[in-house]
Amino acid sequence: MRIGIGYDIHRLVEDRKLFLGGVEIPYCKGLLGYSDGDVVLHAIADAMLGSLSLGDIGQHFPDTDPKNKGISSREILKKVASMVSERGFGVHNVDTVILAEEPKVHPYRDMMRDCLAEELAVTRDRINIKATTNEGVGSIGKGEAIAAYAVVSVTERDIKCQSA
Ligand code: MG
Repeated sequence: MRIGIGYDIHRLVEDRKLFLGGVEIPYCKGLLGYSDGDVVLHAIADAMLGSLSLGDIGQHFPDTDPKNKGISSREILKKVASMVSERGFGVHNVDTVILAEEPKVHPYRDMMRDCLAEELAVTRDRINIKATTNEGVGSIGKGEAIAAYAVVSVTERDIKCQSA
């Protein structure tokens, strides 16, 4: 088994859709970024890359490459999941913390878990989403940004079982 950690933060701005954990959440602002700015998926993708010492998403999906402009974070996660799978590993479990003053994330938690379970080819009980406010402190507390932490463990696949 191997373990990786990921972190991401994006600024909240007007006239953008808000995506968290692959789910569109109705809100007056969205996360600014070259992609859709989904900090949850970015933190998870970085944790997956970290688990296998594969660098980070900035290296694999640079914002200097025009083909990454407007890329969906689900697409990034899919590509990272195939990198993990190509190396003979599969996701074992995912734990995340979302730091957001607004909006309330809890009503969308199970939708995010379902989205992640689908993309990572695991059951929903392997995915945990936690959310907290920043108690009004700093840029996150003032509602200027949303951040996320993720820890992902991956396990080497049993080749014998796969070919059976
Ligand atoms: Mg990001």
